[in-house]
Amino acid sequence: MVRRRAQEVSIVTQHSVCPPTESDREVKGLHVITWGCQMNVYDSARMTDVLRPLGYQAVDAPDAADMVILNTCHIRDRAAEKVFSELGRLRLVKETRAAEGQRTILAVAGCVAQAEGAEILARAPYVDIVLGPQTYHRLPEMVARAARAAGAVIDTDFPAEQKFDFLPDAQAPQTPGGLTAFLTIQEGCDKFCSFCVVPYTRGAESSRPVESVLREARRLVETGAREITLLGQNVNGYHGEGPDGRVWGLAGLAEALAAIPGLARIRYTTSHPRDMDDALIAAHRDLPALMPFLHLPVQSGSDRILAAMNRGHTAADYRDIVLRLRDARPDIALSSDFIVGHPGESDADFEATMQLIRDVGFAQAFSFKYSPRPGTPAAGAPLQVPEDVKDARLQALQALLRTQQDAFNDGTVGRVVPVLFTGHGRKPGQLSGRSPYLQAVHVDGPDALIGHIAQVEIRERYTNSLSGTLIQERAFA
Ligand code: SAM
Ligand code: SF4
Repeated sequence: MVRRRAQEVSIVTQHSVCPPTESDREVKGLHVITWGCQMNVYDSARMTDVLRPLGYQAVDAPDAADMVILNTCHIRDRAAEKVFSELGRLRLVKETRAAEGQRTILAVAGCVAQAEGAEILARAPYVDIVLGPQTYHRLPEMVARAARAAGAVIDTDFPAEQKFDFLPDAQAPQTPGGLTAFLTIQEGCDKFCSFCVVPYTRGAESSRPVESVLREARRLVETGAREITLLGQNVNGYHGEGPDGRVWGLAGLAEALAAIPGLARIRYTTSHPRDMDDALIAAHRDLPALMPFLHLPVQSGSDRILAAMNRGHTAADYRDIVLRLRDARPDIALSSDFIVGHPGESDADFEATMQLIRDVGFAQAFSFKYSPRPGTPAAGAPLQVPEDVKDARLQALQALLRTQQDAFNDGTVGRVVPVLFTGHGRKPGQLSGRSPYLQAVHVDGPDALIGHIAQVEIRERYTNSLSGTLIQERAFA
């Protein structure tokens, strides 16, 4: 996949953030539509932060917005078509506002913008700004140019400078209620799995320095976060520069984060089996704040397919990591990603995946039919698997995973677990929170518990949640 450029566009090349002028500071509406993973949720919050000094404030609807950002995801099937359909809807909003004498700046961000920037400007010339995931820090400059320029502004560079050096720290947790927060510590990927667009859209792997992560984490805790989820495409491959000048891995970073007063829980996602080192496994044993729940995608249980996917590990390697993790932290619960129908996958390969699932036992998982991404090696590979075969395999695999998820949740019934309460449930007097294993838990309890952890005896399991009773009215953390 190559990065293409439109011709009649203004290309931002400088990395300074323009100081806001007086007229910039009048209050303007900003509406951000976010698709995709938690990293996009985090990025949307950071784009909002970077535009705040220009007077932009979040509004709930695009028709009240002077600027609309569509933050896109390229992972799912027909991603570009979904973007064009949404842009058609936003075009009508823009035209209606224009008829009322109001200007709307329309920006497309994220991985589809990175991969299809020129195509977007060709098919949707009413778009004002196209920006890739590595250039959010240049948004103020792009907005200034879009306001002045007749044509569109495109910036899908992979700049030499680190965007985090130019972005303000996150101002507050991004989730409603503000008790759980995301924090991106690592971006990009050099692993080039056969099926995946990420190395082309997010660029090379890079990690933020330790101090920058700690500063942002402290700020998030000061503004209310009790739980932080560290984000990265290969988050356990984190290798940030430490304050001692040495390279720190995720284990060292997690230890430093665990020392922040008030930060009760730390999670991280998404991990790669190749980067699951001994220090990180030991951190699961030694750091109570590191939650015993790990999303560790394996994709396939067949060594032949894992090699074709260029994953760099075997099914036995994965089983071995799971054993070592369970040795270090016996109650650790696992989640994973699976792809069925990668080119060349035979019935025997698929059965090897089913066997791996039976052997490991997952508390939760995401599963997908392989779908070709233009420009990736697997898209042009021979032996594509017919759709009906993929459908049947996905159904069988999801049925097995569902059984395991139900069994895992059933296993918590009767147990006492610490729950971090994050808000109200749907019924009056009900609180909702999360167990260490990322299960949604509901109890009847006082509002004063929101933001605290309390012990709950789990009584019942529903399809996607648990209910229980408080065995300790007073929060202990
Ligand atoms: N970095 C993570 C890893 O290596 O496991 C995965 C990140 S990827 C953004 C999220 C998931 O989307 C993958 O684990 C994979 O299961 C799924 N995925 C990615 N490309 C896909 C494709 N072309 N077809 C189907 N599923 C895909
Ligand atoms: Fe994509 Fe993950 Fe493979 Fe990187 S390691 S190419 S992000 S699936």
